[in-house]
Amino acid sequence: MDITHYPQINPPQRLLMGPGPINADPRVLRAMSAQLIGQYDPAMTHYMNEVMALYRALFRTENRWTLLIDGTSRAGIEALLLSAIRPGDKVLIPVFGRFGYLLCEIARRCRAEVHTLEVPWGEVFTPDQIEDAIKRVRPRLLLTVQGDTSTTMLQPLAELGAICRRYDVLLYTDATASFGGNALETDAWGLDAVSAGMQKCLGGPSGTSPVTLSPRMEAVIRRRKCVEQGIRTAGHQEGEEEMVYSNYFDLGMIMDYWGPERLNHHTEATTALFGARECARILLQEGLENSIARHRLHGDALLKGIQGMGLATFGDLRHKMNNVLGVMIPAGIDGEQVRKLLLDDFAIEIGTSFGPLIGKVWRIGTMGYNARKDCVLQTLAALEAVLNRLGFSTTQGAAMQAAWDHYANGSCE
Ligand SMILES: *Cc1c(COP(=O)(O)O)cnc(C)c1O
Repeated sequence: MDITHYPQINPPQRLLMGPGPINADPRVLRAMSAQLIGQYDPAMTHYMNEVMALYRALFRTENRWTLLIDGTSRAGIEALLLSAIRPGDKVLIPVFGRFGYLLCEIARRCRAEVHTLEVPWGEVFTPDQIEDAIKRVRPRLLLTVQGDTSTTMLQPLAELGAICRRYDVLLYTDATASFGGNALETDAWGLDAVSAGMQKCLGGPSGTSPVTLSPRMEAVIRRRKCVEQGIRTAGHQEGEEEMVYSNYFDLGMIMDYWGPERLNHHTEATTALFGARECARILLQEGLENSIARHRLHGDALLKGIQGMGLATFGDLRHKMNNVLGVMIPAGIDGEQVRKLLLDDFAIEIGTSFGPLIGKVWRIGTMGYNARKDCVLQTLAALEAVLNRLGFSTTQGAAMQAAWDHYANGSCE
């Protein structure tokens, strides 16, 4: 083979303003260029313990089991669902976008009896709607998405924990897209399991998924492991619960690897862990509250700019995520042509959309390292120029002025 046809990796410079991934914080890239060490080197196990502590702070939890699943965010979802769901378990999934369907699909693969609840895209559920469904279905688990990037909506979770406790239901949420840019209170809200990812508000590359498990969830997973190993536990008949149909995602084994036993499982993805550690350090140095306020500030500035351009937005703005905005593609404009011009001539990427919104909505993200004033102003100026070129006329400069004014009047920064 002629290796000269395969030059060294040198990707084009882009400003990634879609729903994720976004540009990684350079500090994270530097941390990821550190040399490898052995997986049982005391330095490495120390880093693993530090990562647990850092993510406990970000998840706002005392949960002992707060660790990384190697793989993209979906790996965290699969590890939790495969380890928690026994075949035949009833699960209830409120679906308000594409990632709700992903939970349904994974739960079905876990052989769960899946019950769903749906609202039109662009809306979220009230606690009453969810409680009524719990009373009807009597599930063992409630599986939710916090921020569904497909619709840009943020499901309020604060009241669900108490409801789930009342009916003895375990509560899981996929916080991949919302984590770090929107409030999430694992303990105060009574969440039994949460999973996240790096490539949204955390400002890192995809490839590792932080998860946290409550003691209730841990007990469920541990009991299962005992049955797997043929150990009878009080009140449980052998074979009543079945083994986890994955070795890689068996959280019982993963806890024994991250815990003091250090039982060999996979080789921890060292470089990814260095990156995840730096992402957490960056957020905690800034302060989690400040990070959430920053995402709100830039999300709102983008919204003001889009409205200033005369464009309509998608969904119920009262329940919008701080870090991503759905923008209606104006009549007569080809959304893909706009995205192509933005990428080719301005090196800016914005998102398309899925399912019922395809061709109708763009999704623009302001998250992680790119939740910044310069990124928002540049994106608005470029989008306005492209739209004007394609015949959608605006009051030139009004969009950027509106965003700029928002910053001038804003309380933080
Ligand atoms: C972006 C996103 C994911 C991404 O999963 P990956 O496996 O990292 O691609 C998962 N869940 C939600 C809600 C997301 O928005």
